[in-house]
Amino acid sequence: MNKIEIENVLFSPEEIRDRIVQMTGAIENDYRHQDLVLVAVLKGSVLFLADLVRGFSCPLAFDFIGVSSYGYSRTSLGVVNLEKEISINIRGKDVLVVDDILDSGRTLGWVKEHLQKFGPRSVKICVLLEKEVERVIEVKADYVGFKIPNVFIYGYGLDYRDRYRHLPYIAKLEEGEVPPGDIVDE
Ligand code: 5GP
Ligand code: MG
Repeated sequence: MNKIEIENVLFSPEEIRDRIVQMTGAIENDYRHQDLVLVAVLKGSVLFLADLVRGFSCPLAFDFIGVSSYGYSRTSLGVVNLEKEISINIRGKDVLVVDDILDSGRTLGWVKEHLQKFGPRSVKICVLLEKEVERVIEVKADYVGFKIPNVFIYGYGLDYRDRYRHLPYIAKLEEGEVPPGDIVDE
């Protein structure tokens, strides 16, 4: 397999690591003595979650929720489909939803509302990236790693047509460009 040449890197592994260390510190400080459960949104958040939890010195739990969204018209509300439900009881817990990126707000808006049904004590949102675009659904992220303009990015959990999630950095894809080493599907 060809080596993937790093091009158009927006955030290097070092920049990502340093920012996540700060985020872990801020979260730990805010949730001191609370019963914290991180709920990570599959699949884009997995690398972020893994690095985020590593620095915690207080006990916490984490779980996953799987959703897919479709109906991408800018004007429609879009439809979010639950693919994997959480499996631990969050009643009375302080929940922090962890996701890769806040874009239109559909996913996180839906997830936050959905989790409220289980009676948690609080639900907040933590994203590695926030796109500076107008939200379709108004959602506020309580913890944000980096703010980015409206560009398509991939790597570090984010995919380009299901691949490249494993890259240790975040790269930007220009309009009409394909990532280096991309395999064209039949
Ligand atoms: P929203 O529901 O806020 O529009 O979008 C959130 C989801 O869309 C993210 O969790 C992510 O999966 C996907 N997404 C949004 N922007 C990008 C992007 O630039 N690159 C990739 N790979 N996925 C994105
Ligand atoms: Mg996602």
